[in-house]
Amino acid sequence: MIKKINTKFIKLIKYYNLINHNLIYENEAINRYKINSNLAIKGSKSKKLLELKQLIASIKNCELKKNSTNIVFSDGNPNAKIMIIGEGPGANEDLEGVPFIGKTGDLLDKMLLSVNLNRDNVYITNVVNYRPPENRSPTKEEITRYLPYLTRHIEIIDPKILILLGSAALNAIIGGDHVISKFRGKWIDKKIGKCSTSVIASFHPAFLMRQPDQKKLSWLDLKIIKKKILDLKINFEK
Ligand code: URA
Repeated sequence: MIKKINTKFIKLIKYYNLINHNLIYENEAINRYKINSNLAIKGSKSKKLLELKQLIASIKNCELKKNSTNIVFSDGNPNAKIMIIGEGPGANEDLEGVPFIGKTGDLLDKMLLSVNLNRDNVYITNVVNYRPPENRSPTKEEITRYLPYLTRHIEIIDPKILILLGSAALNAIIGGDHVISKFRGKWIDKKIGKCSTSVIASFHPAFLMRQPDQKKLSWLDLKIIKKKILDLKINFEK
């Protein structure tokens, strides 16, 4: 009898997972399904993001796109006040179409968690939206080609804090040939397109996996970011 009930229950759970509903155990019909208001996209942001994604998907004569499986547009919460920019998709991201998954993504998630952040309160994208072959860094030409899309992406999200992970993101947004080890951990107020934001650069998680002794500096940067979140009174909706 118990076994029968368990099987039925497990099937029910699988079904709810499949239809992706957060079931609330209330009798009131109207409250039975809860929309996570933190993730609900307000206003026309979703439309603008969709248009931008379509625009990027229609890029012609791009070697990155030709050699990729999927466009890797973004992950996280479009209403977030914190935006993170990485370098470009790797093999896992190319297959799944989602930035920062696999080991690099796991490390990024751990770094975020260490300052009470997660993908529900940050928004993540990359300098280029298609995977550079052989996991090479995007070239200057590729960065320049994708920069208008990245700028538009930042304008749409309009973050209060912009975190640049690694030198590709640093040099795309700040310009020049800065060395991340010299530039990291410092705030710069910057206008990017129509968005005025506080920018900080830090080490890329893939670099930290190769150079774990640098994690102590990365931790300092995370603490600086945490302080800024408090100073700017950024609240995370529950
Ligand atoms: N490295 C990046 O910079 N971005 C990803 O999405 C994955 C790995």
